[in-house]
Formats: sequence, C-alpha cells, structure tokens
Amino acid sequence: MEHLNMEDILSFLEINELTESNLALAKRVNAHIVRCRKCARQVIAFHEIREAFGKETLKRQAEKGGSSAELD
Ligand SMILES: [Zn+2]
Repeated sequence: MEHLNMEDILSFLEINELTESNLALAKRVNAHIVRCRKCARQVIAFHEIREAFGKETLKRQAEKGGSSAELD
C-alpha cells in the first residue's frame, strides 16, 4: 500500500474549493486514512499545526490593527 506523502496531506488540508482535482485528492486521502492509522495521525497532526499557526497569524494581524493585506 502506498502511503500519502506530505504534499498530498498539505494540499488536502488546503482545499477550500471543490474543484474536480481537489475532490479527487480528498477522495484519495479519505480512502487511505480510513485504512491507515499512520497517515490518519499525520493528517491530524498537520491539521493541528495549521490550526495553531492560523490562530497565531490571525492574532498577530489583529494586533497590527486589522488590515493586513498590504505590506509597509
Ligand atoms: Zn498510510
């Protein structure tokens, strides 16, 4: 059985719109992690890391005063 690679996992976690290729990736990842604990754990770990970083980034942006899209 071929395991998921990091790129698969990261792309999977970054899906924010359901294009055909994203759907195919999501199906592939889901089909794998229901059978593979090791990869399931990795997906969860990456998800938690992303959540943590996301929150940190949001907090920093809020502290800077909101609009963060432009560089100084
Ligand atoms: Zn696996």
